[in-house]
Parts: sequence; C-alpha cells; structure tokens
Amino acid sequence: MRENYRNLKVAVLGGGTVGSEVAYRLLHNREELGRRIGAELDLIGVAVRDVTKARRTDVPADLLTTDAHSLVVAADIVVELMGGIEPARELILLALESGADVITANKALLAHHGPELFDAAAKVGAQLYYEAAVAGAIPIIRPLRDSLAGDEVHRILGIVNGTTNFILDLMDTKGQSMEEALQIAKDLGYAEADPTADVGGHDAQQKAALLAQLAFHTAIPLESVGREGITEITLDQVNQAKQAGYVIKLLAICERVAQDGGGYGVSVRVHPTLVPRSHPLAAVHGANNAVFVEAEAAGSLMFYGAGAGGPETASAVLGDIVSAARRHVVGGPGVGESTHADLPVVDPGIVPTRYQISLSVTDQPGVLAAIATVFSEAGVSVETLSQSTPYGENHESQTATLVIQTHQASEADLSHTVEKLAGNPVVHQVTGVVRVEG
Ligand code: NAP
Repeated sequence: MRENYRNLKVAVLGGGTVGSEVAYRLLHNREELGRRIGAELDLIGVAVRDVTKARRTDVPADLLTTDAHSLVVAADIVVELMGGIEPARELILLALESGADVITANKALLAHHGPELFDAAAKVGAQLYYEAAVAGAIPIIRPLRDSLAGDEVHRILGIVNGTTNFILDLMDTKGQSMEEALQIAKDLGYAEADPTADVGGHDAQQKAALLAQLAFHTAIPLESVGREGITEITLDQVNQAKQAGYVIKLLAICERVAQDGGGYGVSVRVHPTLVPRSHPLAAVHGANNAVFVEAEAAGSLMFYGAGAGGPETASAVLGDIVSAARRHVVGGPGVGESTHADLPVVDPGIVPTRYQISLSVTDQPGVLAAIATVFSEAGVSVETLSQSTPYGENHESQTATLVIQTHQASEADLSHTVEKLAGNPVVHQVTGVVRVEG
C-alpha cells in the first residue's frame, strides 16, 4: 500500500434506490474502504433532479445537488446511477474527457451507446466499469472479462430479469395465471406500473448484448439480439411443460455457432424457453438471477444470486469503485473492452432449436397420423408426442390437447410447420410454441 496517497474524490450521479445506498456505504464504510484501497474516498456530492424530495436521512442533505456537471468535472471517480440515456451519456463522456474513471449500472445506456463510451474511455486510458449493469449483485462481468479471459466461452444461458422469473415461477409453483402473477409482482414492487421493459424482454435483451460482447470479444448491436417476451405464455403451457419435466424460463442465450462456410458466428437472443427440471437454471426461483456459462476448459459454471435491490446492486458498484480507486493508487493502464474477434453476428432465426408445440385437436381416430404427416412433409422431426388431455376426457367438446416436442429445427421450418398445422382441419388451434434448451 502506498503511504499518504491523496484522497480520491467520488461523485455519485443519482440518489435513488442504488445511488443512495452507494452514497451511504461510501460514508459508513469509509475507513475500511480506505484501508483496502490505500487512499480515502471523499464523497463530494450526489446529483439528483429534486433536492427537496423526501429521502433517507442517513445521506446528509448537504451532499445533494442538481448541478451534476460541476460534480463530474471535480471528481476522480464518477458513479452514474441515474439511469436512462440522457443526460447519463453526456455526463459519462464529460467525466471520461476530464480524466475520471466511470462506474455505471446503466445497461440501457451501454447496450445503445457502449462502443462510443468504451472508445472515449480507451482514448484517455480511463476505466469504464459496469459490474452492476447485468444481474445486480452477481459477479459476472469480471468473471467473463478477466477470470475466463484465457478460456473459450461456447454458450451462456442467463436468467437476467428478476421480474419475469418471479412471474413465471409463481405460475409454475402456485398455479397463478399470467395476469395474477403480474399483479402480485406489481404489488410487491418487483414489477413497474408499466412492466413492458421486463415482460417484453427489452431489459434482458440489453443484458444479453453486454454478456455476448464480453464472452465473444465481438461488438453486438442491440438490434441483432432476437427478442421475445413472456406475455404470450399461458398457464396451460406452464402446466404442459411441467408434465413433460420442464419449467419455462425467460432465457438470454448467447452462443458461438459454427458457420456453414467454416469459422464461427455469434447468435444472441432472448425468449421463453423450456428448461429441463434437472438443469441448475430450473432451480432459480423468485426474483433471483443466474448465469450459466459453458466454456471449453472450465466446463459449466453457474453464477447465482440477487439480480436487483439497493444494497445488492450497491455491492457490485462498490466493488467497481474499489477496483477503479486501487488503479489510481498503484497506477498502470486499465483493462479495455475487447472486440478484436469481430465474429459475424448471425440472425437468431437460422440457429436450429428444439421446440414444444401445443395443439388443440379434434378428438377422433386418425388425428395423430394427420399431425405426423404435417411434420414429416415440413421436414421437422418429432421427438415426443403426448396427449395432455387424453382422448375421452374432453368428450363433450370433442377436443384433445397434443403436446409435441421436435428435434432441432430452424425457425423458418418451424414457422412453416405451424402454418400448416393451423390450416389443417383436425387442428382447432395452435395454443403454444416454446423453444427448448438444455
Ligand atoms: P432510481 O431509484 O429511479 O433513481 C434515479 C436517481 O437518479 C434519482 O435520485 C433521480 O433524482 C436521479 N436522476 C434521474 N435523472 C436525473 C437527472 N437528469 N439529473 C440528476 N439526477 C437525476 O433508479 P435506480 O433503481 O437507483 O437505478 C439506477 C441505475 O441502476 C439504473 O441505470 C438502473 O438500470 C440500474 N440498476 C438498478 C437496479 C435496482 O435494483 N434498482 C439493479 C441493477 C441496475 P430524484 O431522486 O431527484 O428523482
């Protein structure tokens, strides 16, 4: 540890759920953090929109300011916890230009403007850390960037959105409908009044882009990440999955895929997925997150824990602050983002996947043969076929429910099959199509 290193000035932008917790911990744990770093951290201010708003009292009110610019240019380390795109982007660029290291938890900003921000950091040799931007408290950015830097990541399967996991888990374990589970998530504060970012898969899409970029050393434009939310998932589908030994999870899937002409590409997508109940991700309950990484030499690794929450997210932010501060004290260049591999990002639709299709069909002899013919004519091979409602049970309505799992098929072949099934006279309705992984 260096003796008498000057105090480092830390500016926190945002005094909400995470910002106030980070500010509190910087003040409360100042001495211990100082010992770990080799320099004291002076919290010079917390930027907010409205200083008159009622807030927790353990962060002194005289640290609050609406003048984020003045804080940024005075700081050695700027911690952006405002969220949103502007003014967060502009303030981070200003911080980097002023020579400060930056810590952010803002996945939306990084997913939309990552290359611009990382370039700005690289230009001045500053650090841009973002451990809290994916999966809250769970260390996953640093393991991918540093611990696995000598390995080859093949695939990442992540439950990176706590709200959707909470909803799907309630449907699976308590038999709640989607609407009931969403309402409970809102009542308990797990879902926003407008839950679109979560249930529509946008939040997970942003996190998937960040994970894939790190894992495959390739820039991943957000629009290349396939996205499907959970809004179409029904309790019937959850129950059919359960009967077949699966649980439905919203997964962020980032994988290296072999290309037809040789070499590899990257496929990144987010969609509801059937996961076998024996898979470690099936045991991720409530609002928890988990990231399952498959690497060449390391094998399978699972990172699990709280994906959100003030103290939990502050833990990841403080880890970044300590790392950035230590670099000030001991010197040396920081670790930059690496996109040197520059693998082609392939259309998620061409990556073959297994599917589960649920059908409501006429309850009469010959139906199974008619359905099997549709699959074989479309070139999609059936792995299992079961009747979730056995013939006879629904005799009054003269319908039966069939649940079919396919072998791997492309999205195009699958869509063609579903189209043909929907047009077949024995099929009343295609009630669900969900991908299967694991
Ligand atoms: P939040 O509770 O809404 O707090 C946002 C804070 O930023 C508020 O204090 C707000 O000021 C301030 N702010 C917003 N716009 C501002 C502006 N233009 N100028 C000055 N101050 C401004 O948000 P949060 O939940 O703490 O999230 C912060 C960041 O962490 C986001 O990027 C989020 O995605 C990320 N994150 C959050 C969690 C979590 O569990 N909450 C987990 C992982 C990552 P006022 O207080 O005056 O309104």
